[in-house]
Amino acid sequence: GVRLEATNKIVLDLEKLYDAAGEDLAYVARYARAIQQQRGDYNGRVLSIRADDLRALAIVYDISPSGLIERLTEQGVLVADPRAFFAS
Ligand code: C2E
Ligand code: C2E
Ligand code: C2E
Repeated sequence: GVRLEATNKIVLDLEKLYDAAGEDLAYVARYARAIQQQRGDYNGRVLSIRADDLRALAIVYDISPSGLIERLTEQGVLVADPRAFFAS
């Protein structure tokens, strides 16, 4: 069938976000740490985040949500398909 679920979800590569990402994504990294804390989700290599939270973060960066998605993609911190991520 048609696979839409993996493309719509916003999934962050935490190692890339915390180690490799520059000052540019410092607020995204801080937000991701806060979400991990709120969920008690400390052991994951990836983190799925709410679309609402991405919208709020985009306001912080003064860009559109799709602009933030683009920036995250450029920095390589977005996981397109978490299942493929674990298979590789
Ligand atoms: P909450 O928003 O009242 O959600 C309570 C519980 O419902 C969550 O516990 C989670 O088990 C489930 N839940 C709520 N929304 C979703 C969802 O979209 N997907 C899934 N899979 N489960 C959902 P949890 O994870 O222990 O989180 C506890 C509280 O921490 C949440 O209470 C919320 O206040 C906050 N939180 C956790 N993650 C996020 C997040 O990504 N963004 C925001 N804004 N708050 C979060
Ligand atoms: P998926 O959403 O494609 O996620 C694939 C794998 O990425 C997950 O395998 C998990 O290892 C990792 N992953 C994704 N998001 C997070 C995250 O926020 N935190 C952490 N620690 N890991 C994450 P897993 O857990 O075996 O789940 C397999 C599939 O089961 C998921 O595929 C999803 O389709 C479903 N699933 C698991 N938990 C939930 C959930 O809370 N809500 C919903 N709706 N589906 C879930
Ligand atoms: P998911 O668990 O597959 O949920 C997909 C969408 O279903 C969510 O997109 C949200 O629109 C809706 N949804 C699922 N559970 C709840 C709920 O308890 N309350 C409400 N109001 N809506 C719910 P959204 O918000 O963009 O979240 C994307 C993904 O981020 C979720 O996928 C889940 O993997 C993660 N996530 C979001 N919030 C939480 C949370 O509070 N706790 C945990 N553990 N994961 C969360």
